[in-house]
This record gives sequence, C-alpha cells and structure tokens, in this order.
Amino acid sequence: LSEIQDADAVARVAEKILEAMTAPFEIDGHAITTSFSIGISLFPDDAADFDTLLRQADTALYQAKAGGRGTYRFFTDQMNVAAMERMRLETNLRQALERRELYLEFQPQVDLESGRIVGAEALLRWNHAELGQVPPDRFIPVAEDTGLIVPIGTWVLHEACRQAQAWRDAGLPLLRMAVNLSAIQFRRTDLVATVRAALEASGLDPAALEGEITESLLVDSSAQVQETMRQLKALGMRLAVDDFGVGYSGLRYLKHFEIDKLKIDRSFVLDIPGDPEDVTLVHAIIQLARSLTLEVVAEGVENDAQVALLRAFGCHEVQGYLFGRPMSAAAFAERLAEQ
Ligand code: C2E
Ligand code: MG
Ligand code: MG
Repeated sequence: LSEIQDADAVARVAEKILEAMTAPFEIDGHAITTSFSIGISLFPDDAADFDTLLRQADTALYQAKAGGRGTYRFFTDQMNVAAMERMRLETNLRQALERRELYLEFQPQVDLESGRIVGAEALLRWNHAELGQVPPDRFIPVAEDTGLIVPIGTWVLHEACRQAQAWRDAGLPLLRMAVNLSAIQFRRTDLVATVRAALEASGLDPAALEGEITESLLVDSSAQVQETMRQLKALGMRLAVDDFGVGYSGLRYLKHFEIDKLKIDRSFVLDIPGDPEDVTLVHAIIQLARSLTLEVVAEGVENDAQVALLRAFGCHEVQGYLFGRPMSAAAFAERLAEQ
C-alpha cells in the first residue's frame, strides 16, 4: 500500500481484505472456505529495505496465525525478539534427538486407597549444552509448530515403553506408564503404527500403556482422529484426558471415545480446600468420573489437606510433588523397590 496516512488506514484495508475472503470460493462446483492471516510492516518506520520489511511482515504473519487466524498483526520489535528466540530454539531442537539431549523423567501416580505407586507419567526433558535445561512448556509448542513433535513423540513412546518393560524385567512391581500425546501425532502421522512398533520393540503389555490426550483433541476430532483413537483402544492401550476441566469437552465425548481416565487439572486442585468454588468443581468432576465409571486422578497435589479432601470425595489416584517430583529412571526404580 502506498500513500497511506497512518497505521489505522492499513488496519482498515486489512479488515476489508479479511472480510472479503470470508465468502466461499467456488471451485469445480464445490464451495471452498479457507482462512487468511495478514502480517504488516511499515516503511520507513520498521525498516528501510525491502528484504527486511518482507521478513518483518512474515514474522507478523506468523503471530497473526498463532493468534487464531483470520486476523492481522503489525510487526513490532518485541516480535523480533520473540521470533529470534523461537528460531534459536527451533534450530537447536532439530539436533536434540541425534545429539541425545532429550531424556525422560518419571512422576509417580499413587493409589489413594493403598498408598502405593501404581503408575508413572513420562515427562520429556531437554538439556542443551548452552541453553541449559529448557522447560517443556517452552519447547513443546515449537516442536508442534515445526512438526518436530512427530519424531520426538515417537522417541518418547519407544523410550517410555522400553523403561516400563525394563522395570518389569527387573522384578519391580507392575505399573502403568502414561505418555503425553500431542494432537499433531494424531493428525499428521500413523500413530497406531508407531504405538504398535513401540509395544512390539519393548514387549510391553498394551494394557500397561496409557496415552494422555487433551480435551481439545476430543472436541475437534476429525473422522481420522476418531478412527485412530478407536484403533489405539483396539490395541489394548488406555486413554486418559489430561488437564481435564480447562477445555470445554462436551460430556458425550467421554463415552464416545472409550476414555478410561480423567486427570483433574492442577489449577482446580491448587486452592482446595480453601477455595469453596474449586472444592465444588473438584467434587463435581470426581462425581462425574465415578458415575461414568471412569478412573479419576488429581494432578498437582502438594499438601495433606488436599489429599484428605480428595480422599473424602472418592478420588482414585493422586499425582504431585507431595508424592514425588518428576525424577530420573534410577530414582524411580529405587522408589519402586522400596515399596
Ligand atoms: P502435564 O502432562 O499436565 O504434566 C504435568 C506437569 O505438572 C509437569 O510439568 C509436572 O512436572 C507438573 N507437576 C506435577 N506435580 C506438580 C505439583 O505438585 N505442583 C506443580 N506446581 N507442578 C506439578 P512439566 O514436566 O513441566 O510438563 C509440562 C507439560 O509439558 C505437560 O503437562 C505436558 O503437557 C507437556 N509434556 C511433557 N512431556 C511431554 C511429551 O513427552 N510429549 C508431549 N506431547 N507433551 C509433553
Ligand atoms: Mg500429562
Ligand atoms: Mg496435566
């Protein structure tokens, strides 16, 4: 756009374009709709040369897409910093697998009635020589955006199954291994083949493997995702809904997908028993799970008062720092041996 008065004028044009693009296209008699996103950079405020302007617009476009698509963003310097940071993570993450910088930690899941460890959740860790320990909340979104979560997720499945079977072979108590699955793994790869391969390579009983999925996957599920879940269940594997309560999954999904377990999100557990609203919500989720004959586990349990209440409400399992932080395989094996 040339001869513009101010940034507002550009925003109005962007809005008009987006509006015009909401109408379906007709192609070969089919009505096709798609979404558009716009990134904007301004000469000479943002940069004085074409290449830089284009790159900045591209960065802003990326932010627009991340902001939910169908929208526009102006480039800001702050975006530049964030984009550089992302690029640095991305470049390094591409090499993380072959450099063996990824590893798993395991967090105990404890049965409230017996007080025994009945399961482990495998949690991915990345230790980079220069960046140090990068938390999963920072690098997993990058892995998802770049598709790197596919090879990484495959590695996690293999490694978690191998470890679970190694503990069994060592004569430690039988336990369930929970693995976090990204929606991308459902949508972009043959997850069933990957799980089958991990089970076969390790020799692990499929019933000992539990996939943790998000509520949003249930809600947005395509026919292909539904079929994948059906086949995973047919393999004998279990499915748990992670961070339950923060999304908006309709209740019918829980039955429709043969879910085995709900994991109550940490945010609900945090302020019980002090916060009466959270107490009510936690109670309601536990009752919901029990009446649907689902197992229910509370995440992020850090103190005895929470445990007392969860027990009174009939929660089956707990997971949290009170019972153990995520720990190395060796430390976990020691805990198992003690019990
Ligand atoms: P999540 O699956 O909900 O995992 C639970 C998170 O809560 C873990 O954080 C764990 O360390 C933390 N946590 C457990 N107990 C407590 C507690 O008592 N208090 C507090 N404050 N926190 C507690 P972490 O390990 O940083 O993982 C964050 C998220 O990263 C996970 O949330 C999961 O969504 C994702 N993630 C981790 N590993 C993988 C993986 O292998 N694949 C995929 N796709 N996602 C993963
Ligand atoms: Mg999880
Ligand atoms: Mg969780």
